[in-house]
Amino acid sequence: MNVQNGDEWQYSLRPRHLREYIGQKKVKDNLDIFIKAAMSRGDALDHVLFYGPPGLGKTTLAGIIANELGVNFRVTSGPAINHAGDLAALLTNLGEKDVLFIDEIHRLSRNVEEVLYSAMEDFALDIVIGKGPSARSIRLDLAPFTLIGATTKAGSLAGPLRDRFGVISRLEYYQPEDLVLIVKRAAEILQISIEEKGAWEIARRSRGTPRIANRLLKRVRDFAQITGDGIITDEIADASLQRLEVDRMGLDHTDRRMLETMVMKFGGGPVGLDTLAAATSEERDTIEDVYEPYLLQLGFINRTPKGRVVTRAGYEHMNIPYPEA
Ligand code: ADP
Repeated sequence: MNVQNGDEWQYSLRPRHLREYIGQKKVKDNLDIFIKAAMSRGDALDHVLFYGPPGLGKTTLAGIIANELGVNFRVTSGPAINHAGDLAALLTNLGEKDVLFIDEIHRLSRNVEEVLYSAMEDFALDIVIGKGPSARSIRLDLAPFTLIGATTKAGSLAGPLRDRFGVISRLEYYQPEDLVLIVKRAAEILQISIEEKGAWEIARRSRGTPRIANRLLKRVRDFAQITGDGIITDEIADASLQRLEVDRMGLDHTDRRMLETMVMKFGGGPVGLDTLAAATSEERDTIEDVYEPYLLQLGFINRTPKGRVVTRAGYEHMNIPYPEA
């Protein structure tokens, strides 16, 4: 198993089997069938695309698929592949039925992406040798492999690339009852004492995101250790999360600043993404991939053709009176 991933503790918290992967039932049940079917036919699994906000478990699921298939797992990302040759090197090094995971696949450059087309479709690379009139193209066969792509933006993937994935799955924000299980599982692995109610408090405030749940768990543990007796109770969790500026709905400082800016500077909207990015000094992409999806999910903002608007629920959450028309 080859994993190029420096994020060690995150890795230790990653489930290794489909049955340990909590939540995302529909995605998981379908994958289970596809994996079993491919294995019983002796084929490589069809290419898979996962999309959804960061931290929902796309990389984890890709690793699980490789593990369940019993093949090597190679990890890379769109921005890390600069030249078509880099991709060719990765592809020619893959063994039979191996899994190649490309995170942020929407950030592949056009010429790299084009190499992927024949690789995905025919398990072949078309390489041009030489320049000018004497240039010729040779075809290199590849071992059948599975490409797993992950993206926060399915919409920004070029059509021809998207069409070459046999399985396209959207990961959803997790329900608190799933996040409770994730928090308790991580607590067990990290040997943290946590009460049921403490786990719920963290789960409810993790923006539906396992990566955030794991991070908050570690920070709350610090508070429990220093200000309490080491056990995470609901009081300790609540007090620590307040100190971390994570509110009861899981909004952090930046989420609230988004809402506040929209209300205070733009009368609640409509406001365009670029304007909001300039007013808050946040990256447009980060707003679009990280902040906006959760605010939309909570119903605190709406997307209209003219831009984003803050809803009545958003005003109420910020304790600001809703401007009646
Ligand atoms: P993404 O690739 O979507 O950004 P990751 O796969 O890196 O997300 O997941 C972030 C962290 O959340 C991982 O370290 C893993 O421990 C945890 N995690 C994600 N999904 C689950 C799950 N379904 N069950 C348990 N832990 C999970």
